[in-house]
Amino acid sequence: MQQDHTSASQWELETLAIRAGHQRTHEQEHGEPIFPTSSFVYGSAAEAAAKFSGETPGNVYSRFTNPTVRTFEQRLAAMEAGERCVATSSGMAAILATALALLQSGDEIVASRSLFGSTVSLFDKYLGKFGITTRYVELSDLEAWEAAMTPATRLLFAETPSNPLSELVDIAALAEIAHRHNALLAIDNCFLTPALQKPIALGADLVIHSATKYLDGQGRAIGGAVVGRDKELEEVFGVVRTCGPCLSPFNAWIFTKGLETLNLRMRAHCENARLLAEWLEGHPAVARVHYSGLATHPQHALASRQQRGYGAVLGFEVKGEREAAWSVIDATCMLSITGNLGDVKTTITHPATTTHGRLSQTQKDAAGITEGLIRVAVGLEAMEDIRADLARGLDALG
Ligand SMILES: *Cc1c(COP(=O)(O)O)cnc(C)c1O
Repeated sequence: MQQDHTSASQWELETLAIRAGHQRTHEQEHGEPIFPTSSFVYGSAAEAAAKFSGETPGNVYSRFTNPTVRTFEQRLAAMEAGERCVATSSGMAAILATALALLQSGDEIVASRSLFGSTVSLFDKYLGKFGITTRYVELSDLEAWEAAMTPATRLLFAETPSNPLSELVDIAALAEIAHRHNALLAIDNCFLTPALQKPIALGADLVIHSATKYLDGQGRAIGGAVVGRDKELEEVFGVVRTCGPCLSPFNAWIFTKGLETLNLRMRAHCENARLLAEWLEGHPAVARVHYSGLATHPQHALASRQQRGYGAVLGFEVKGEREAAWSVIDATCMLSITGNLGDVKTTITHPATTTHGRLSQTQKDAAGITEGLIRVAVGLEAMEDIRADLARGLDALG
């Protein structure tokens, strides 16, 4: 292996995305290689013993470390300005590994109410079984976070901006609350990615990713990652190494190549989302648009301060109930009707009956998930075509 040529700390984000983490082998390859191997061999019994004991660093088994996975981890760690990254088999595995590594029975999590559905199930149904309890608070309400803290609180967990209503929390202020109570702050940075938001630089301790979304950006693979300090990440690594939710080399390679175009893609996603949000806001059939890039968004100033861009997931409410929302969705020909997001292909969803369908009416009301709400994760097709596809149903509503 050629010496790591990343002088990571001096490079800009755009450069890190393309150059960080690649250690060229003696083959002098230009692109990042894939190492599809389960295990590694040694030159001698003594070398094997030293590698196994950890006395000499190096690869033993791909559940522990793999060079292709390490390239992805080092590149993402550099981009998120974290000391270390541990890749996982999915975004959910990243959250599970973090919880197993850092929490124990009797500990409490304080989390935002507007979390990814499976994250809520993980916290309530599975962590709950082991005596870890979670309280949910309004994402943007710092006083509610403060009030929910107890001496047992070990972890604060938030997604910002939220899905699908684009609500935000002030990450720096939340980190201050967490640290004052000796707790850690984890931010799920799926929707903005390090191209648009750097939670660690704002004071967060851990960043969680579903690489499945924008890091890949083309809907090809499932994967995840945790980024943070060496201290906590060593524990997360221990869980992944022992319990097994490791990332495959092939998926790691896909994500590494995805990172190379992340900055460009996110910029283009944001531009399309802004144009669509502005157009929707002016459409007579649209009652409300939820997008932090709009000057009318209640937290637009915070979004402008904390983010390098506003992301590409937006919600809008049509005038009328479920029937009206469904008619707009069913009138599309090009947009993909799916719950997924973070893809070059634009996706459209009716949250009340899909992603948030399991919530009770009271929970939906509290979360602002109305029957007229539609979520669009804006892709990279031509804006004229995205608009035309939505106009068909919206114009019919009058
Ligand atoms: C998709 C998603 C996850 C879960 O990631 P998987 O890769 O599907 O396991 C977690 N958080 C957010 C915000 C997501 O959108």
